[in-house]
Amino acid sequence: MILDTMVVGPLQCNCTLLACEKTFEAVLIDPGDEPQRIISELDRQGVTVKYLLHTHAHFDHIGGTKGVKEKTLAPICLHKGDESIYKMLSAQGQMFGMQFEEPSPIDKFISDEEILSFGQHRIQVIHTPGHSPGGVCFKLLDGAEQVFSGDSLFSGSIGRTDLWGGNFDQLIQSIKTRLLVLDDDIRVYPGHGPTTSIGQEKRNNPFLR
Ligand SMILES: [Zn+2]
Ligand SMILES: [Zn+2]
Repeated sequence: MILDTMVVGPLQCNCTLLACEKTFEAVLIDPGDEPQRIISELDRQGVTVKYLLHTHAHFDHIGGTKGVKEKTLAPICLHKGDESIYKMLSAQGQMFGMQFEEPSPIDKFISDEEILSFGQHRIQVIHTPGHSPGGVCFKLLDGAEQVFSGDSLFSGSIGRTDLWGGNFDQLIQSIKTRLLVLDDDIRVYPGHGPTTSIGQEKRNNPFLR
């Protein structure tokens, strides 16, 4: 497995490339900004992107999607619950003082527990609403499972719930029932900041006591 994280944009979104080391088929999670830099990295790694996956539709996670899509032609995948937030990309940008073009159409709606394959690997969708209605995490189903938690769960914190459709109680519920039930030693790769583990968050995250 090739796992390559690029920190992109002013909000420092973790954009993660996961690629099969045998077939070089890949998925790209949250191309939030700097599409040219991401495309250069895809070329350097020699991978073919099969899916453009998004943990949710906030601008810092989808801002580079259009540029990467135009180059890779990979389908844009998003949970249906975030469709309206995705379509209001330029309004999101205005609120944060940034300009965006109209987003490219969503190609594929992904749903809870759906499994997508790339090369010899598989990744599963876990719907974790609360930070946004269509927020999801992605769990790799390889021997050593890893979770990509978007802005649902951070190391020592959780995502904000004051943006469009956010709901604090729902987010806590999502994390407790969908993430903390996983094995303690599973590595967690949040949408911002450092990696952590399920066990570490269970023990130390002040929001989850
Ligand atoms: Zn977000
Ligand atoms: Zn974010």
